[in-house]
This record gives sequence, structure tokens and C-alpha cells, in this order.
Amino acid sequence: MYDEKEYNKTAEEPYNLKNPPPASSSTVKKVMRSMKTKDTKAEVTLRKALREIGLSGYRKNWEKALGKPDITYPGKKVAIFVHGCFWHGCPKCGKQTPKTHSQFWIEKISRNRQRDTNIILKLEESGWKVFVFWECEINKDVQTLAKDVAEFIQRTDRSIY
Ligand SMILES: [Zn+2]
Repeated sequence: MYDEKEYNKTAEEPYNLKNPPPASSSTVKKVMRSMKTKDTKAEVTLRKALREIGLSGYRKNWEKALGKPDITYPGKKVAIFVHGCFWHGCPKCGKQTPKTHSQFWIEKISRNRQRDTNIILKLEESGWKVFVFWECEINKDVQTLAKDVAEFIQRTDRSIY
């Protein structure tokens, strides 16, 4: 999603998704650089906690599931999205959008949120159980989140799918 080369382009045209505004401070730059879309620190942490609790049969970014969830248990129809607080507009920790070019970021983040909502709804409509975990929740208490997933899978015995 975030591409350093695109990002560093001098912006003569109006800003758009392929031509985002330049980072205006070193803090913004640092935040931007830390925003990978795959194998983020939060994903790695969560997957480790899931393995430790005995849920190791997951797929990463499984292409057959809509939206390629970060983690899926295909046989159980359980999908987990790990959302970066900044990109997805976390309602829990209120990570702020950069002060400069904030209109650009607000629009981009709201588009991401819309996309998230659509994907989640469609997955649920086709029988998936979807968990959305925020980066800040994972940092705070990953064990509880992993336990929630484990309990759901045990309780519902979704192996019938
Ligand atoms: Zn957050």
C-alpha cells in the first residue's frame, strides 16, 4: 500500500493515492516507514501467540478468501484482520493523522475503513467468522486475543465446514 518511491516523488500534481504528499517531518517519515502491509510486527506477534495456544493451522494472506485476510483458518472459516492503527483509523487508541496534509490522510484512511467494512460484511455474509484486531490491542494483550479465537473455534466446532 505504502510505497516509498511514490511517496518521495515531488508533488506537482494534486495529491492522490498514487502521489501522496511528502512527509513533512521526521516523525511522519518514521511512522510511514514502519507501515508495512505484510508481516507487520503486530501480525508476527499475533501469529506467535496463536501457535503457542495450539492454533497453528493458519494461512497467511490466503488468496481464496475475500480481502486476503492477514490470517485465515480455511477449514474453520475463521478470518483475522490485523489493522494498523494509523492506516485503518483506530477508534481505540486515536492515533492521530499527521497535522500537515491532514485532508489527504483523512480521505485515505476513510477509504481504507470503507473497504474494510465492505470486505468484512461480505465475508460474514458468506459464513465467515471475522475477527478484527488492532495493532494497539495486540501490543497490549495478545494472549487474550488469541484465547478469544481459540474459544470461538472450540465453542462452535467449525470443523464441519
Ligand atoms: Zn489503536
